[in-house]
Amino acid sequence: MKVQLLPSSINDDGTASQGQRLTCFVVDDSVAFDAGSLAFACTNLQRQQIRDAVISHTHLDHIAGLPIFIDDLFATLTEPFRIHCTTEMFEVLESNVFNWDIYPRFSELTNVYGNVLEYSLVEPQNAFKVKHLEVVPVTVNHNSPSLGFLVSDGKVSVGITGDTSETSEIWNVFSECENLAAVFVECAFPDEMGKLASDSHHLTPARLASELAKLRDRKYPVYVSNIKAMYREVVVRQLDDLKLSDLNILEVGKSYAI
Ligand SMILES: [Zn+2]
Repeated sequence: MKVQLLPSSINDDGTASQGQRLTCFVVDDSVAFDAGSLAFACTNLQRQQIRDAVISHTHLDHIAGLPIFIDDLFATLTEPFRIHCTTEMFEVLESNVFNWDIYPRFSELTNVYGNVLEYSLVEPQNAFKVKHLEVVPVTVNHNSPSLGFLVSDGKVSVGITGDTSETSEIWNVFSECENLAAVFVECAFPDEMGKLASDSHHLTPARLASELAKLRDRKYPVYVSNIKAMYREVVVRQLDDLKLSDLNILEVGKSYAI
C-alpha cells in the first residue's frame, strides 16, 4: 500500500514545504482520506484516478480542496465523484459549502455523463469498501464529529487517526488488527500550549506519548502528522525527546510504501 500526505504550502524557492496547513492523505494514488489540499497538490495521475474522498470531519483544513477538485473534474467525470462521510458531515457540507453561496451544489448538477457528485453515508464502526480498500471508521475525540480510520488493502492495514485528543476506541481497533503496518497520528501543538490543545481537541507530544501507550504490542512505525506549521520545530524537538521506538515525523509529500 502506498500512502502520501499531499503538500499544502511552499518554501521561498517555490518547492513544496514540510509545513502542513491542510490535510489530505492519498492511498495508492486513487483514494483520498480528507481533501484539504486535494485540488492543489495532487499529481495529474491522482487527478485522473481519485473519484472517492473519505472525510474524517468537516473542518476547513480537511475539506478546502473538495469543491475545487470537483469543479476541476466537472466536465470530465464519467462517474460521480463520491464523498464518503457521516450524515452529520453530509448536512454540514450541503448547508455550509455546497450551498450555491460558497460554491455550487454539485449534487444537483449533471454533465453529459450524468450526476457529478454523490454522497456515500457511513456509520462509525461499520466497515465499508472504497475501490480496493476496506475502511473501518472509528469515532475519535475532536470538537466536531470526527472519525479515524483503519484502512486495509487485503494484505496490510494502516491506521489514520484524523484530528483527535485523548481517545480510546481507535487504539483498541488498531491493537486488534493483525496486519497493521503503520499508524499516522496527529500532534498539533507543543506541550506548553496544552490549554489550547485541550480547547481545540488536539494532542501535544506528552499527551501523544500517553495515547501511544494504549497500543498493545506495537511493532510498526508511527508517523506524526498535523503538526501546526507555526510550531513545527518545537513539536519535532519535543517528539524527539520522548525517545519512543519507531516514532517518526511524517515527511510531507513523500510516498510511503507500507
Ligand atoms: Zn479539526
